[in-house]
Formats: sequence, structure tokens, C-alpha cells
Amino acid sequence: MKITVIGTGYVGLVSGTCFAEMGHSVTCIDVDTKKIEKLKEGIIPIFEPGLEAMVKRNFKNKTLSFSTKLSEHLEGCDIAFIAVGTPMGDDGSADLKYVLQVAKEIGQHMTTPLIVVDKSTVPVGTADKVRATIKEALEERNVDVNFQVVSNPEFLKEGDAINDFMKPDRVVVGADDEETTEKMRALYSTFFRSGSARLITMDVRSAEMTKYVANAMLATKISFMNEVANICELVGADVNDVRIGIGSDNRIGYSFIYPGSGYGGSCFPKDVKALHRTAAEHGYEANLVAAVEAVNDKQKLVIAKKVVKRFGEDLTGKTFAIWGLAFKPDTDDMREAPAIYVIKELVSRGAKIRAYDPKAMHEAQEFYLKGIEAVTYCNSKYETLVDADAMILLTDWKEFRIPDFEELKTQLKQPVIFDGRNQYNDKMMKKNGFEYFQIGKKSD
Ligand code: NAD
Repeated sequence: MKITVIGTGYVGLVSGTCFAEMGHSVTCIDVDTKKIEKLKEGIIPIFEPGLEAMVKRNFKNKTLSFSTKLSEHLEGCDIAFIAVGTPMGDDGSADLKYVLQVAKEIGQHMTTPLIVVDKSTVPVGTADKVRATIKEALEERNVDVNFQVVSNPEFLKEGDAINDFMKPDRVVVGADDEETTEKMRALYSTFFRSGSARLITMDVRSAEMTKYVANAMLATKISFMNEVANICELVGADVNDVRIGIGSDNRIGYSFIYPGSGYGGSCFPKDVKALHRTAAEHGYEANLVAAVEAVNDKQKLVIAKKVVKRFGEDLTGKTFAIWGLAFKPDTDDMREAPAIYVIKELVSRGAKIRAYDPKAMHEAQEFYLKGIEAVTYCNSKYETLVDADAMILLTDWKEFRIPDFEELKTQLKQPVIFDGRNQYNDKMMKKNGFEYFQIGKKSD
């Protein structure tokens, strides 16, 4: 099939590349000229394991190309995916300006029948708006070209995106007619080894809703477990044991019940807010959804509070080594990362920071912690420890899992560790002479 993917970010670039890998002819479009020029030179704008080799291979094979001109890539195109950002608007709702801009451009330039697919995460009712926008643009041109609008939300996880896309647990397709559904089934059937059993079809609104509910459910698990962790600390229980105790129940399960420093990233925070907003627009106060967000906002600062409790309100003259800036491992994405909140809080109290992350240093320096002079960026996790009063772990990168604890002890001014991801065994830490603070267990 001939496919155009509009928006070449985490979702667009991964989706387009994976469709090309399956032999489709794909053009990825973006308004960011620099990004497109770099991609043509083989420079990948994001870190995503396995992506670079796949992009280069398909670009060389000519199954994948890049362009800034949507108008030149709609003729003869079978399916156009809209994969632009849907950032949070001022009132918490998803801002659809990029999606509707793309819809307008599609209507202004399409000449042959087309399936338009909303792959961006968009609130219920967006497909109707996309359809109306395209129709209006076609009417302005006084032409009539057949098109359908489909909802096909994306469930890939940054850090494992290629794997998620190539071997999906499920693909959700919301379409209004059987013929369109069958075309989408044909497109995705190559990704399923045994037929298309995991292609779940439904109406458009249910598909749009499915994405928000999936993210809100996962965020709820995280916030619930963080709330439990905070209670555990107060009552003298160990959340690590409680987690194992409850996960053994099949109805609960072990996945996504790890306590930590709160969720971040480009999806959960904005999607939870948007679901709350959608409910409110329909006259419903979604109390649980609002609580998930409120718990998370507090949780992002739990580690900073522990630091203040140990070192005092005024942190002038103190230096902290930060291990991990990205919102989760295996990505350079720092959107809404707990590290931003923790670092800003400590710096506002006079502390100096020595930070290291395997992939997100550039993002931190250029965008999320830009201009904060109290932050020094280091070349390795051990370099952060020089003259530091304590180490604070905020992202559970594998390379932080089994560090050289002797080195930590030698380099730190005093052996104090704050672990925002419960990576270490507290008994072992104490035996080795560390003062060890974690989430959901009172330190002795
Ligand atoms: P992103 O910010 O990485 O990429 C969006 C891209 O769209 C940018 O490169 C931007 O320049 C481009 N763009 C904006 N307007 C454009 C236009 N008019 N024409 C062409 N390109 C345009 O965003 P992302 O993380 O890939 O997310 C895209 C959507 O997918 C969002 O709705 C998001 O919620 C959803 N989503 C993201 C993830 C994820 O893990 N990042 C997972 C599932 C779903």
C-alpha cells in the first residue's frame, strides 16, 4: 500500500518505519524542516532502540522517504495517518490545533480516494471534527473526493516502541464501514503471525475512548500503588513486600504496581487530564480520574521531601548527585519527568546538582532544565558523586541497577542514597553502611 504518515515524532517515525519494514511504500511528513533534512542524512532525532538501523535500511531500499510537502504525497495514497502531537491545552483538554490543521491540508490537496487515520491520541468526537474539516476544505475547492476517517490509536511504549509496533498485543481500529475495516485489517495482517485475531474492531468513538481508558487505567495503578506506599511508610509496612503479596492474586497481577516517583512522559499526564476534561464537558465529575492526577503531582516531590527531612529546609552548600533524568529508562524523553520537579525543588532551596543520564542529557540541557546554573552535567554516574552529599536515583536505567557500591561510598561525602525507584535491597544497603531512603518503607 502507499502510505503517508503526517507528523514524524515518536509515533509517526516508528509507525512509518515499521510499515515500510513490512514492504509498504511510506512517506513520513513533518513541518520541521531540520528534522526532515536530518532524517534524509540518516540522523535520527530521537533515541529509540532499534530504530536507527531500521530507518536507514528502509530509506536505502526506498520503501521509506521523508518530506515536508504533504501536498505532493496524497495523490494515489491509500492511507494517510495523522500522527501529530495533541498537547495539553490551557484547560486540560487535548489541543487539536495540529490535528485539525493536518485535516485541513488533506482536504486542500487530496485528489484521489483516501482513508484518513487518526493515530494521534484524540478525545471522543475528534474523528467527526476531522471529517467536517476535510469536507469543508473539499467544498471550498468545489471538488468531491471519497474519504473515510478511522480511529487507530497507538499503544507503543517509548523505549520498546519497535517491538510493540512489530509485535502488537492488539491493534484497535474504529471505523464506520466494513470495507474500510477490511482495508485496515489487510494493512495490519502482516504484523500478526496467525491471522488477524488481535485486530480489535469497533466503532470510531469507542476506539477513541479505548486509548484514554487504557492510559488512565495504567496511571490509576501507578497512583494507587504510590498512595499505598505512602501509607506503608506511615504504618511501618514495607510496600515491596505488600506488592508481592497482592500481585500473586491473578485478579491483580504483578504488572504496573511498582511504587516510585510518579508517572511522567508525554502521554499519561496529558491523557488523564484530557479524560477528566472530556467527562466534565459532558457534565460528569470524574473524581477517581482527578485523584489519580493529584496523587501523582504529590508523588513527584516525595523524594525531594525525604531529602529536606534528612538535610534540612535550607540546602545551601549541599550538592546532590542525580542518577537519571528521563521519565523512564530506554528513552531520551524528559516530558513531565519527575527529575525536572525534584531538581527544581532542590535548587530552589539552594542545592547544587551533578546530573547524569545515559540518553537524556541533551534534552535536559537544551529544554527542560535549560539555564539552571546550579546543575552540572557529568559524563558518567560515578562522576556525579564527586563532593556530593548524597546520591538520588530517579530513573531505573539498567546501568544503575548494580553499581559499584564501594565507589559510591568512597566518592560521596557521606554514604546516603535516596532511591526514587526502589532499585536496591535495603537490608544489603544497610549492611554495607549506607543510609538508604526508598519509597514506601520507613528508613530505620
Ligand atoms: P511528537 O511531538 O514526538 O511528534 C509530533 C510531530 O508532529 C512533530 O515532529 C511535529 O513537528 C509534527 N507536526 C506538527 N504539526 C504538523 C503538521 N501540520 N504537519 C506535519 N507535521 C506536524 O509527538 P509523539 O510523541 O509522536 O505523539 C504523537 C501523538 O501520538 C500524540 O497524540 C500522542 O499522545 C500519541 N501517542 C504518543 C505515544 C508516545 O509514546 N510518544 C504513544 C502513543 C500515542
